[in-house]
Amino acid sequence: MSLLAQLYYKYGTMNSGKTIEILKVAHNYEEQGKPVVIMTSALDTRDGYGVVSSRIGMRRKAVAITNDMDVFAYVKALPEKPYCVLIDECQFLTKKHVYELARVVDELEVPVMAFGLKNDFQNELFEGSKYLLLLADKIDEIKTICQFCSKKATMVLRTENGKPVYEGDQIQIGGNETYIPVCRKHYFNPMISDEK
Ligand SMILES: [Zn+2]
Repeated sequence: MSLLAQLYYKYGTMNSGKTIEILKVAHNYEEQGKPVVIMTSALDTRDGYGVVSSRIGMRRKAVAITNDMDVFAYVKALPEKPYCVLIDECQFLTKKHVYELARVVDELEVPVMAFGLKNDFQNELFEGSKYLLLLADKIDEIKTICQFCSKKATMVLRTENGKPVYEGDQIQIGGNETYIPVCRKHYFNPMISDEK
């Protein structure tokens, strides 16, 4: 496979197989002897710092993007030009990071594929999602089904101890909250018991 040097943004809800897709694309390139760079947000430490991992147990080391990292400078300084830059958890990137990724595409002519969520649990865009929507050349939705019906999941419901939560910090990693992919109807009326 060979991608055009474009900025690709692929968004989906939780459990939509984004990470599996990243590992698959990386594998396809590497099988042909073409190096790729896998990156993830340094914020996502659920499975260890700088690791991309899927719920079905596949995992790989990744470059952790910290807040003050210049992603463009990093890719430019690599000893070998990569065939593709793959990014997981791109919702956690900053505006600055997304502009740097655009420069990776435009100035280094390296395709960048960014995978992540679009909206947070309060249905607002994450910073990374907002600027990827604005800057990406190609935008794709990775579809998932609502946990409670057969409709498409377009929202993410946060639950804590089994109860839906509609307010709080946008990013809360490492707590005992769970995120569930849901359709709009079931976002407001999830079929989970309030009793626990
Ligand atoms: Zn539903």
